[in-house]
Amino acid sequence: MKNINHPEKGQKDSAPNALKNFTTPATDAAGDLRTLFIDSLKDIYWAENALVGALPKMVENATSAALSSAIKDHLAVTKNQVARLQSVFELLGEKAEGKKCEAMAGLLKEGDSILEGTVPGAVRDAGIIAASQKVEHYEIATYGTLCAFAKALGENEAAQLLTKTLAEEKEADMLLSDVAATKINFAAAETAPE
Ligand code: FE
Ligand code: ZN
Ligand code: FE
Repeated sequence: MKNINHPEKGQKDSAPNALKNFTTPATDAAGDLRTLFIDSLKDIYWAENALVGALPKMVENATSAALSSAIKDHLAVTKNQVARLQSVFELLGEKAEGKKCEAMAGLLKEGDSILEGTVPGAVRDAGIIAASQKVEHYEIATYGTLCAFAKALGENEAAQLLTKTLAEEKEADMLLSDVAATKINFAAAETAPE
């Protein structure tokens, strides 16, 4: 970047156009798209592994058979997505490693508070769907970007694998919408307060 003012620590900055919110890059900051792509893969690799750990809790807290089987199915799909990411790392000649995804950590934390904040039954089920769809939407956004990066970098095999995962995340999201619209939201709407 050019023409960026880096005021020294403690120095009063009097320039009218000085950037006050500019973030100085870390020493290991990505300087090319490939590095940003790999960093983003590490982020989602951490996130998918975290989901493998978190989804059983959602299954255990779901009352609706349709909901728990949808989440169980997606748990199996998620385990395969972890393996698919390992193939992507391999295609790129990179070591498969995770780097904490703050967004997924936050979504899972919110999921826990939704469980605590709902009475088991249809209302908790509606909350589980809400939390799960936030997760799927984060994944859809992430894999959409990863596919675009892979294509831009000419990594077509990686792009194909990532496109498969993107389609699975969209399918999971649609299935959750379907379970909510056809079953759970009506049951939750009819649930009387305790
Ligand atoms: Fe996933
Ligand atoms: Zn992330
Ligand atoms: Fe997913």
